[in-house]
Amino acid sequence: MSKIFKQVQAHQLSKRYNIAAFPIKIEHFPEAPSRITFDSGVEIESTCLSCVNKYCINYTNEELKSIYFNDFPHDTNNNVCPINAIEWDINSDFPHIKSEICFSCGLCASRCPVGAIYLTKDTAIINTKNIDYIDNTDIKSHKAEIDKFQNATKTGKYLDESDVLFSLIYNKILETNANSQFPNLITRNLLIQLGLSTLIRRKGDVNLRMDGVFNARNNPKIKGVIEIEFGKDVLDSPRNILDNLAVLSSRHNYQYNDLIPLVVSFNLPNIRTEYWRVIKDISNVLNIKIQSFTIGTLMLLLWNQQYIDFSQHNFYVDCDNPSINSTLSNILNRKINLSNFEFSITAPNK
Ligand code: SF4
Ligand code: SF4
Repeated sequence: MSKIFKQVQAHQLSKRYNIAAFPIKIEHFPEAPSRITFDSGVEIESTCLSCVNKYCINYTNEELKSIYFNDFPHDTNNNVCPINAIEWDINSDFPHIKSEICFSCGLCASRCPVGAIYLTKDTAIINTKNIDYIDNTDIKSHKAEIDKFQNATKTGKYLDESDVLFSLIYNKILETNANSQFPNLITRNLLIQLGLSTLIRRKGDVNLRMDGVFNARNNPKIKGVIEIEFGKDVLDSPRNILDNLAVLSSRHNYQYNDLIPLVVSFNLPNIRTEYWRVIKDISNVLNIKIQSFTIGTLMLLLWNQQYIDFSQHNFYVDCDNPSINSTLSNILNRKINLSNFEFSITAPNK
């Protein structure tokens, strides 16, 4: 069978729910399938519709653009999963997740328009339970079905944070043989899902010093520059980010005080390191407020279906207050359930 014929056949397998009503709510649950409520009162489990556009697997070219930094030479890798744990065999009706390497970040789940992917502490799961489907006969009817979900209210959460959960996730990441672009890819993808159009430096590009740039999708005034360091080099990030601001100001005509500097790390640095003091010095002398994130913090926000809004949220932390917990608590309207004993996700461990 020719490859072209196989692709056409795969598209013909896309599905619609056999329910003559409008979806009004998709509710997510930790460790259990999401549920869809229709305006007729009918409720069903979200199950995979075998999308023509593989939302859970790839970004579109449009999603990998920035309105401000269109001359930034960026990585065009369009994989949603930074570790390639989600794939779709052309002979299969549904995508498949390699649970041995999936670390439940939630990126693919947050992309699914019908909520068919849910998270457990070990892996993401695509719900392919056999419900009453109608096979689409054309791409148009499939697109119309997906469009119906655009305005459905999204509630609930994908996972509950805990020390045990982050221990599993972080250790799985450390055991995975990820390539050198992994830190940049996971950061870019998490930031995109959290509302920031983000570009990252191409793999091996030694001519560019900064790791990434971003602008808020819903607020054209909010834009910034990113340093991503998952190792000990994070200690140099505050100084590197000043370097990035200087380059963008002097060579590319951006106003440095219009740019939000953002450091993304695996762990927050130890409280005894210079990192925290340097951030405070930069704030005191230059009035530049460096925002610090870990990928665990970004996952936590994603699991709770939040967006980063720099006009409302302040992730500035320094030696006087090195914890992100109060900002997260304000956003989530509840206490953060983490001691940061093994990994420094939202505050440095002592
Ligand atoms: S998991 Fe969701 S996004 Fe992926 S093919 Fe299925 S319905 Fe589409
Ligand atoms: S949950 Fe994350 S790691 Fe797992 S398949 Fe989805 S994107 Fe990949």
